Amino acid sequence: VKGVKKYFPVKSPLGATLQQVRAVNDISFNMYEGETFGVVGESGCGKSTMGRTILRLTEPTEGQAIFQNKDLFGLSEREMKPMRQQLQMVFQDPYSSLNPRKRIGATLEEPMIIHRMGNKRERTDKVMEILQKVGMNADQYYRYPHEFSGGQRQRIGLARALVMNPKLIICDEPVSALDVSIQSQIINLMQQLQRELKLTFLFIAHDISVVRHISDRIGVMYLGQMVEQAPTDKLIRTPLHPYTQALLSAVPATKPNEVRERVILKGDLPSPLNPPAGCIFHTRCPYVMDRCKTEAPLNKEVTEGHFVSCHLH
Ligand code: SF4
Ligand code: MG
Repeated sequence: VKGVKKYFPVKSPLGATLQQVRAVNDISFNMYEGETFGVVGESGCGKSTMGRTILRLTEPTEGQAIFQNKDLFGLSEREMKPMRQQLQMVFQDPYSSLNPRKRIGATLEEPMIIHRMGNKRERTDKVMEILQKVGMNADQYYRYPHEFSGGQRQRIGLARALVMNPKLIICDEPVSALDVSIQSQIINLMQQLQRELKLTFLFIAHDISVVRHISDRIGVMYLGQMVEQAPTDKLIRTPLHPYTQALLSAVPATKPNEVRERVILKGDLPSPLNPPAGCIFHTRCPYVMDRCKTEAPLNKEVTEGHFVSCHLH
């Protein structure tokens, strides 16, 4: 992902563009086959928009998303179609995207019909096989969405992505609506599926304690930018950006050497319509200096694989 931007124009009643909401503002990162890259940040920081932009569920403003040596942003809709099969998305609330009047099996077969995969018999077999892979019974094929619990619906959400034999799945807050005990079941299932099916995950969530458990590397987003990026261990042990430090200080320590001073951020998240000049975090940063108010810090690689945008580093 290189220099990706997604701006939403705010138009006057006569159609003139008045302002731009900079929802995703110049984000770059790599993902490696078979890993989980976690993206964490407060709600409204642009992480969902970033996920949707990479898959072109919303059209990008600028940048590149290179997958198997092809820039997805440069493909026509026809060239994009076979790519979409390999790039799937799982949402926070699968129930809202399940047709309440359709049996689960029929809903799961739909994307295969669109992509002309197999005949009726093969599709049914595939759906039953995937239902078992996500820890359900094949006979649940015949049930309706309302008959399932939240955890089961998220298993169905995963199944819907998996019937397409994807390479990469963008998971947008996949466990945020679930009880804590169910969260860990779903995360364990995702890790098991990842190993078995060699999946790559982009795992988006607002809760860093969830993200750290599943991610090999983590990117921290604030106001449309990725302010820090590092392998999970490094990010947890030595967070460099004051925003990451604040996020981590709100999480109970799991090991004695992780005990941190509580960092309380002042003020509210500024609007992406009018982001602060200089460092976007300067209005809330406990370490703000004069230059932070005018000069945007560059994204620097401080140690191997550890990137941060902050004048302190
Ligand atoms: Fe804080 Fe300045 Fe670093 Fe921004 S650049 S995070 S305001 S110290
Ligand atoms: Mg979101």
